[in-house]
Amino acid sequence: MLPFLKIMVRNLLQGPSTDPFPFAPAKTPARFRGAAVHDSEKCILCGICRHVCAAGAIQLRAAEDGSGMQFMLWHNSCVYCGMCAHYCPTGALTMSDNWHLSHLGEDKYTFSEDSFVPFGECAQCGARIQPRPNVIVEKLGGRAPDQFLLCPKCKRESLVKHASDTNLSQFREKQ
Ligand code: SF4
Ligand code: SF4
Repeated sequence: MLPFLKIMVRNLLQGPSTDPFPFAPAKTPARFRGAAVHDSEKCILCGICRHVCAAGAIQLRAAEDGSGMQFMLWHNSCVYCGMCAHYCPTGALTMSDNWHLSHLGEDKYTFSEDSFVPFGECAQCGARIQPRPNVIVEKLGGRAPDQFLLCPKCKRESLVKHASDTNLSQFREKQ
């Protein structure tokens, strides 16, 4: 009887050892992979996430007016492997620790991460180009950020002009 009483008193003092969920948040391990989250302000529409997603949970669709692309990730199809977040070059996709993913069957097509990513504009001619988020411009630091903001045509012209100006000044120096 005495050992039992000892255990009972110890357990009463320690309190419950199970999570009190749903009356309080459950403990979630730090590296738990829950629902993927997309940040449209960091996305460059490279499509790598769609390419590596074995579950086919990600789609990129061009907007009808050509102003950008719709990013869609269906949580219902996702297997939480984390590959999209691992390969996303800008950190636009991350895995959250949100595992509260139960939903009604009728909501399976709307239970998604859905965001619009507008195209960027060439700093010189205004042509539509891939988005140029600040996160990338900042990473470039002093390494030709101006070139990064140009469309391929203006970039080519700018490089040719820069090369011919350099050659001309070197030619003049030699004379
Ligand atoms: S976590 Fe895996 S399955 Fe889910 S969207 Fe990313 S790559 Fe696809
Ligand atoms: S979320 Fe990342 S990997 Fe996917 S298109 Fe955007 S930048 Fe590329």
